[in-house]
Amino acid sequence: MGVGTGVIRGHLVTLRRFLLTFWQDIRAGRGLKRRGGGPLLVDLFRSPGRGKEPTVVQDYKTAGLFTVEYPDERLPVYERFRVLPVLIYDTEDGNVRCTSCNICAKVCPPQCIWMSQAKSPKGTVVPLPEDFYIDMDVCMNCGLCSEYCPFDAIKMDQNFELSNYERHQTHIFNLQDLLVSSEFYAKTHPEAWNSADEVAERNKVAKKKDQRLQKALAASKPGPAAAKPAPAPKPVKA
Ligand code: SF4
Ligand code: SF4
Repeated sequence: MGVGTGVIRGHLVTLRRFLLTFWQDIRAGRGLKRRGGGPLLVDLFRSPGRGKEPTVVQDYKTAGLFTVEYPDERLPVYERFRVLPVLIYDTEDGNVRCTSCNICAKVCPPQCIWMSQAKSPKGTVVPLPEDFYIDMDVCMNCGLCSEYCPFDAIKMDQNFELSNYERHQTHIFNLQDLLVSSEFYAKTHPEAWNSADEVAERNKVAKKKDQRLQKALAASKPGPAAAKPAPAPKPVKA
């Protein structure tokens, strides 16, 4: 065998595969369609709108070269795919689940979470975050914060399109940036949301929330002595 013939043969195999792909597409009537498999005709100016791009799957039936024409086509995002943490608030009552207990900040390996606890007008601490920050450039997507949170308040999200033109301030997400509704989480993580573990956890958290509410209500009620001022003694007639 001459020197280099193996390389040439390899290139010929690739070229054959490349041409076959076009031929197969033309025979199957997909000549004018996106090669990734999306249902759109080849178009330069039309777009279905952000977030509505067709999802493309390369399974065992797909033959030939396969290119996902991102961002016009996308690969599916699987439920367990995780990027950055979000904080959950309950859709029904708008209650922010986080109690500002600081556990997530303590377990975070690169220490990229910090928060301040809310205070009542009297200056006593309230189990809510006044603000909550995560430095998204430092976060290593490990998910430990969500594993350790005792209130099911912090979860991993799947959004990976986070780039912008500023890398100092905008990548430090605050409470408003981090909050997402429980409804949103249920849609992006249907399997986890309906799992026995999560249902039990939700019930546990709801019970704790109710206990806290009852405690707060009891504390705000005036005591039996202060409830009704004692009637002034009637003047005794001589
Ligand atoms: S997200 Fe969870 S672990 Fe972190 S401070 Fe809030 S309640 Fe605590
Ligand atoms: S995912 Fe990991 S690195 Fe990121 S905030 Fe949570 S614990 Fe920290």
